[in-house]
Amino acid sequence: MKLEAKNISVSIAGKNIFSNITPLFPEGSCTAIIGPNGAGKSTLLKILAALNTNYEGEIFLGGENIRKLSRKKIARHLAILPQTMQIPPDTTVARLVDFGRFPYRNLFSGGNPKEDIEITEWAISVVKLEKFKDRQVNSLSGGERQRARIAMALAQRPEIILFDEPTTYLDISHQLEVMQLIRLINEKFKMTVITVLHDINHALQYADKVIVLSGGKILQGAPKNIINAEMLVEVFGVEADIFTNSRGASILSPISIIRR
Ligand code: ADP
Ligand code: MG
Repeated sequence: MKLEAKNISVSIAGKNIFSNITPLFPEGSCTAIIGPNGAGKSTLLKILAALNTNYEGEIFLGGENIRKLSRKKIARHLAILPQTMQIPPDTTVARLVDFGRFPYRNLFSGGNPKEDIEITEWAISVVKLEKFKDRQVNSLSGGERQRARIAMALAQRPEIILFDEPTTYLDISHQLEVMQLIRLINEKFKMTVITVLHDINHALQYADKVIVLSGGKILQGAPKNIINAEMLVEVFGVEADIFTNSRGASILSPISIIRR
């Protein structure tokens, strides 16, 4: 399923956030969106998921204008993991993941309970939370909770999945775990992934395409072509070195702030 965004412009409270941007999301790719705080990354993600409709331009999902599609139709093809999500206190992992089946149910039919159970169990196994399925989500550690939320998105059986800063508040081992899970979702299950990342090194290591959102405009291309010392000065006002690590991956090391 193809997701296309054409000439998107947004203003919030009279302030222009971005104008006329056409970010490309190749089918099956893992795209990272990076940029300074307040650049509009979360706004863009919400527009792509039809959670924000206050924009100019067009978004097409499978060739159809997303404004004309129902929430459930969209949710059968596209899932979004927002940065924060309120989870009712007594929600178990299994219950949370089952919420991901909402696009397949309606008032008149309970959907297909057997399929719902199979898919929910599949999603829980992908994130390796089998032993936690009856635990309350709010009693889990940050890493486990994030995996539970990812399972809920997987239960929608989307072809496209959007993440907003999925590693925030996690320690390095749990950051790695989440990034590897995202890569698995992309490579094994062939989902198109679009993820806002605050850690530029994650973009270098895990994305096959990078979109830099800054000053209302975008730069896009292969991570190695986009993420360089010049861009870091220009966009983030930071002087940085880029090294190659023992695995041959490019790694960024910030040195000093040049300007804010
Ligand atoms: P990012 O995710 O890149 O940090 P956001 O998309 O959250 O940026 O926000 C982009 C800009 O829009 C920011 O300046 C933010 O303050 C502003 N903004 C976002 N949502 C609202 C809102 N509901 N009301 C007013 N301003 C908002
Ligand atoms: Mg944000």
